Order: sequence, then C-alpha cells, then structure tokens
Amino acid sequence: MKWQTKEELLQLTKDLVGINSISATESEVNAAKFIYEQLSTLDYYKENPEHLRFVEVPGAYERKAVVALMSKGKKKDTLLGVGHFDTVGIDDAGILKDYILDPDEYTKRIGQLPLDPASRKDLESGEYLFGRGTMDMKPGIALHMQNLEYYSNDAEFEGNLLISFVGDEETNSEGVLAAVEEVAKMVDEYDLTPIAALDTEPDFASYPNDDNKYIYLGTVGKLLAGYYVLGKETHVGESLAGMNTHLVLANIVKNMELNMDFCEKVGKEVTLPPTSLKMEDHKRLYNVQTPLSGHIYYNLQTFKDSPKVYMDKCLAVAKKSIEESYEYVLEVNKEFKEVSKLPLVPLDLTPQVYSYSDFYEETKKEHPNLDDLLAERITKLVDLRLDERDLTCELIQYIQELSSNKNPKVVVFFAPPYYPHVSLDETKPNHKAVIEASNKTIAFAKEKFDVDIIQAKYFQGLCDLSYFALEDAEDVLKYLTPNMPTLGKTYSLPLDAIAKIDVPVINYGPHGRDPHKYTERVLVDYSFETVPVVLKELIRNLFLI
Ligand SMILES: [Zn+2]
Repeated sequence: MKWQTKEELLQLTKDLVGINSISATESEVNAAKFIYEQLSTLDYYKENPEHLRFVEVPGAYERKAVVALMSKGKKKDTLLGVGHFDTVGIDDAGILKDYILDPDEYTKRIGQLPLDPASRKDLESGEYLFGRGTMDMKPGIALHMQNLEYYSNDAEFEGNLLISFVGDEETNSEGVLAAVEEVAKMVDEYDLTPIAALDTEPDFASYPNDDNKYIYLGTVGKLLAGYYVLGKETHVGESLAGMNTHLVLANIVKNMELNMDFCEKVGKEVTLPPTSLKMEDHKRLYNVQTPLSGHIYYNLQTFKDSPKVYMDKCLAVAKKSIEESYEYVLEVNKEFKEVSKLPLVPLDLTPQVYSYSDFYEETKKEHPNLDDLLAERITKLVDLRLDERDLTCELIQYIQELSSNKNPKVVVFFAPPYYPHVSLDETKPNHKAVIEASNKTIAFAKEKFDVDIIQAKYFQGLCDLSYFALEDAEDVLKYLTPNMPTLGKTYSLPLDAIAKIDVPVINYGPHGRDPHKYTERVLVDYSFETVPVVLKELIRNLFLI
C-alpha cells in the first residue's frame, strides 16, 4: 500500500498541493486528472475500472469531477464521501506566490512576509506546514484516497464507499452538482443504500484564535438575495423631478447591511448578519441623466429558515427603503418650494415593490410569449459569458423594458449559487444514528489520543455537503425556483438527484488555520497521524448504523 503511513499521506498531500488547481480556472482539471491517475494504480481499480469515473462538468472549458466506488461483499450500505480539489487563488502570497504550492519551500520562506502573532508563533513551533490548499482541502482529498486504498485491502470490511472528488467548490459548486447526478445514477446501477455523506473539510475557527477540533453534523446554507432598483430618472438640471436609483440603493444598504433581523439562532450557533457583495448602477457612460436602474446583492447565511422567510424579509426591506426614499424626495421638494418660491409641479410617483415572480407574472399578462422572449435573450447573452449574477440582472432589466409599468420599483430576486442548509434531526432514526456514531468517535479520540473534539451543528464555511440532502424540498421548489431567473436555464440544481440521495451528513477532517489567507497552514502531527485513525473509527461507527 502506498498512502497509509503518516509520511506517505503527507507526501500525497504535498503532491496534491503542488498541482495548481485554482477555482474557476482551466487549471482545476489537472487535479481531477491526477486523482484519477493515482487511483487507477490501485489493484482494486485495475480489477474494477468501471467503478472509477470521470464526470464532465459543464462550463466554458474542460472541467471534470472524479467519482470512485469501492465495493466489498454483498452489503448494500454505502457511505458517500465528498471533497473538493480546487483552491482559492495565490496572488495574496505576493513575492512568495511562486512558492505557495511547494509547502516545504514556502514554510521555509514565509517568515519573510509580515505575519500576525499567531502565524509567527505557529511557524516558530515547527508544527505547521504552510501553503495554498495545505488545509483547505488537499489533505482531506488525500484522506479519501487513503481510505479507498485501505478498505479495498481490508479483508474484514464489507460495504461500499462512493467518493466524489470535485472542483469549483470555492466558486459555484458546479463540480458537486455534476457529481451528485452521477452518484444518484450509480446508486441505482449498483443497487446501493446510501447511509450518510462524509466530507473531510478541515475544521474552521469559530472565533479568532479558536484552536478547537470539530466534528460538524451539518452545514450552513447560503442564499444570494438581490434588489433590482428602477428609479425615476431625471436631468441633473431638474434634480427634484425624479427619484435617484442611488438614493434607493443607499437606503437598501442602510436597512440591510449587517441587519441582525436576518440572523438565525439554533442552540448556541448564530448565523452571521448579511453583507453586500456587489452594488452597481446600469449606466455605462457619462451623461447628465441620473441612472435609470441598478442592483445590489447580499450574501445570506441560513440554518433553518426557508427561501420564503428570506423573501418576505427582503420584501420588507425593499418596501421600507423605497418608501423612505420617496418621503425624503417629497420633503426636499416641499422645502425647496418654500425657499425658492418657484411654482414647482408636485412630484407624483407610485413606488412599488415586487418579488421577481410577481413582476414576471405581471409582465407575462402583457406579453404571453415572455418565456420565448427570455429564452431568446439568454441565448444572446450566454455568448457574452456574463457572470450568473449579471445575467440575472440583465434578464430583469429586459423584463422591465418589455413592461409598460414604468413606476419606480424594487424587484427582489435570488441568484446563484444556492447552498441548501443541512442539519441533523434527532427525531429521524438514521440521523440519530449518525449523531451516535459521532459521539462514539469523540469518546474514542479522547480515550486513545487525549484529543478533545467538539460537536457542532453547522460547518460555517459553506461546503459540498449542502447537495447531499434537501431539508425543505417543497418550500425550495415553491419559492426559490420562480424567484431565481437563471435556475433551470444557465444554472441548474439537480434537485431530483439530491432528493433521491437525501442522507444525514457529517464532516470531520484535518486541523489548520487561516484558510483563504497566505498564512493557510495545517497542523501536521494531528492531521496526518491522529485524524486518519479517528476517521476510520468514525467510518466504522457509521457502518454500524
Ligand atoms: Zn474547503
């Protein structure tokens, strides 16, 4: 066997780190090819080549996921696994970016960069290995590969592992979306019974300098909610005759940014308040007209609440924001009239608020062929390779052009990517069994290694586990689908495959710090010596379900 000792697993991780696989670039496919080639050398895949598959991931350039089945004996029980091989970019390493994919060299040199005290201390301890992907999550990939080799050689083991190695996790998660369809297909093809989904993401600090080790029994969800704003345009020489799009956007920022009403609390865990990711108006060139329209979108973390709850909250923010904007403009009009003594024509606007689906339905009444018109428009826009969010706003803008309703308005929409939240429900026997497997594993780690592992309900860093279960399928279909204009068009969510898999999820992996920063690092002895043993205990316990 070639990946079983601490040194071998560490070397495999370094080899994986050495492969540039930055998310959403053409380089990602290199990691998929490496994993496929390496697994092909195992005796098991020489004997069962059809169990190791490339899955094509749609996109503008070649992208692949790798799905590997390892089947022993007659049992149907199948543990699904997932891990991502893409990483965030490397530019943050500045003058050392040529070394960040060579962990030994990078660790030797990183002392040249300015380091925060915790990173400096860890560097001096000699216990950490620095580099892009050393934590998030090349060692997790290596662990899945180690387990495929280990169990395929374990004469006692009976059961199935079905592991997906995917890219694009740091961007739109399209790798796992393609992989779960293949997984669902293979579940049918080989008549498998999925029992749980295991991710090997590293544990993320819950607060600065948090050094705890974690097992996560779920993952936080993410919704991207946006506001399309149509103001009332005017010439700058008549500034009181309109309502500036920027004013409405500014009020949305004031009412939405870090708004604690959007936080959910489950047990001791709380979602983070929303923060905006992008805001712009749609004016491309300078002129003296105020901008006609614009948009802003927000990242929302979710634990339990459905897209409907968030749509209602966003609609309330939209209403408040556009009303405040209009009241402000009316007040200034009144004041200006008093000061200037000019015979101003009173401003008379009808500000409106819509969900995307309501605005779409209203316009469809005027244009019964709206779906065809939108499809045509998408075909044209796809050639421009627009970002999914920009494409979404272009479609809303187009509907606005078609509509005879020119009132100032805010349209609330959802845009990709969508990550369903997933958590375990003790009242369901198969979920309870996973909680028990986790409890037993935590006790084992304490007894054998004197390591304390904390059980948390949600992995807060967003991960691929979102696509192995669908908690509130009905609500999602009813409220997400009609309010996400590109869903089913340029963005697809294999909701049927996800609903078919629908297993309890769990995450356990290596320990490190500062994912997505140039100080990303992994704690070597724990991650390459202790974690492999604890992980095998967890897998053993999961198969007892
Ligand atoms: Zn990750």
